[in-house]
Amino acid sequence: MYKSVVSFIQELYGSNQVPLHAPIFCGNEKTYLNECIDTTFVSSVGKFVDQFEEQLAAFTGAKKVVACVNGTNALFLALKLVGVENGDEVLTQPLTFVATCNSIAYLGATPVFIDVDIDTMGMSPISLRRWLSENALIKDGSCYNKLNGNRIKACLPMHTFGHPVKIDEIKVICDEYNIELVEDAAEALGSLYKGKHVGNFGKVGVISFNGNKILTTGGGGALMFNDIELARCAKHLITQAKVAHSIDFAHDEVGYNLRMPNVNAAIGCAQMENLAQFVANKRVTATLYKQFFTQQGIRFFTEPEEATSNYWLNVVILNDRKQRDEFLRYTNLHGVMTRPAWELMNKLPMYKDCVQGNIDNSKWLEDRIVNIPSSVRL
Ligand SMILES: *Cc1c(COP(=O)(O)O)cnc(C)c1O
Repeated sequence: MYKSVVSFIQELYGSNQVPLHAPIFCGNEKTYLNECIDTTFVSSVGKFVDQFEEQLAAFTGAKKVVACVNGTNALFLALKLVGVENGDEVLTQPLTFVATCNSIAYLGATPVFIDVDIDTMGMSPISLRRWLSENALIKDGSCYNKLNGNRIKACLPMHTFGHPVKIDEIKVICDEYNIELVEDAAEALGSLYKGKHVGNFGKVGVISFNGNKILTTGGGGALMFNDIELARCAKHLITQAKVAHSIDFAHDEVGYNLRMPNVNAAIGCAQMENLAQFVANKRVTATLYKQFFTQQGIRFFTEPEEATSNYWLNVVILNDRKQRDEFLRYTNLHGVMTRPAWELMNKLPMYKDCVQGNIDNSKWLEDRIVNIPSSVRL
C-alpha cells in the first residue's frame, strides 16, 4: 500500500522528490520586484502595499485589508484591537500551529483549549457551548471564567489546513457570551463557508503569506476587516502610530513597526493575479487524491459540509498512531515529504498548565493525521 502511495504521488508531481508545499512564481513577480528596485521604493513607501490590500479586499469581500509583516504579528494585532489585555483568557483549539497561542501570550493573556470537530479539524461549536455553559458567567457585560475569575475576552478558532470551521455557529455563541471573535484564517486564503470568504465572520480575520502558504510574499500577513474604523486603528498602530498628514514626526500612542514592506507586497500583487488558478489547481489535486485513496481504503479528508476549501495541505487519516508512523517513515524515506499534525498545544511546556475542556477529538486526530504533498502543480 505505502509503495503505491509513493508512486502515485511521484507521478502526480512528475518527480521522485516531492516537497510538502513549495511556492510557485509563474507570473509578474520579477517584473514588480524590479520596479521596486528601479524606483527605490523597497520599504515602507510604495504603491504595491496599497494595491495588494485592495486586491485582497476584492478577492475576499472584506471591506478593508491591512497588510503587515507576518501572520503571527497580524494575530497579535487583531487580538489587541479587539481589546485583549494582560490576564485575559482567549478560547482557542489545541490542534493548531503554535503561532495561534503565541499571539495570545504576547498580550499577557492565556489560551483556553476547546476541542475540535472530527469533520472540520477546527473548533467545535458543541464543545465551545458546553465549556462555556459549565465554566463561564456574565457580569457587567463581560464574560468571566468562574473557576479563576479571569475575563474571557476573545475566541480564536483556526481554519485547519484551509478547511473552514463551523464559524457561523461559533459566532452565535460568542455573541451570546459577549466574546469577541477573531478568525485565524492563516491557512485559508481562498476558502469559503456558506459562500462567504472565511475571515469575514468575526471582528477581524487573519491571513498569512509565509513561504509555505497558498500565496506567499516571502514573509507577510494581513488583517481583514468589515469595520472601517477598526481597520484605521490597525493601520495607525502598525505604522508607529504616526499622525497622518503631519510633516513633523508626531506620534500619539505606543505604536509598532509591523507594516508590510513594498518588496514583499510586490510579490503578493503578482501572486494575487494567479490566486484563483492556484485554488482551482489545488482542488483538482484533491479530487485526484480522493479517488486514489478511496481505492486504497485510506480515508482522505474532504471539505466539510457547506464549505469550499482551498485544500492548502491535503490530509489523510490513518487507522492509528502506529500506521501513521509507518506511513510517515516509508514516504519520507522514498522522497515523498509527508508530515504529522502539530503536537497538541496543551502538551507544549509553555501551555501545559492552561485551562482545557475535554479534547478527545484533538487527541484522536493528532494520532492519525498525515499531511501529504500539496503544492500547486504546473
Ligand atoms: C502560518 C500560520 C500562522 C503564522 O503565520 P506567519 O506568517 O508564519 O507568522 C498562524 N497560524 C496558523 C494556523 C498558521 O498556519
